[in-house]
Amino acid sequence: MFEFKAEYEWRTVLLWHVVPAGTNAALCGRLLAPTARTRPLADLGALRGDACVRCTAAVGITDSSEVAVPPEGGRPASSACVPRSRPDPSEG
Ligand SMILES: [Zn+2]
Repeated sequence: MFEFKAEYEWRTVLLWHVVPAGTNAALCGRLLAPTARTRPLADLGALRGDACVRCTAAVGITDSSEVAVPPEGGRPASSACVPRSRPDPSEG
C-alpha cells in the first residue's frame, strides 16, 4: 500500500512523493518530514505535474496513457496541445 507524501519548501508543497503507507522514505530516495501531509494514490490526477515522476514511475502508475516518462538520460517530451478551432458558421 502506497500513498503520496508532500515535500515542502518554505511551508509550500514542492512535490508529492510516493511512500509506503506510514513511512517517510520516498521511492525515489527522498526522505520526507514525518508530519508531512499525505494523500491517497487515487489523487494522482489532481496532483498532475506536482507528483514526483520517479516515484510514480516506481509504482507504475500514471493518470492516463498520455503521460510519457522519458527514458533515463532522455529529454522531457514536449507535446503541443492545440485546441481544435474551426470557423463559427453563425458568426456574422
Ligand atoms: Zn519522489
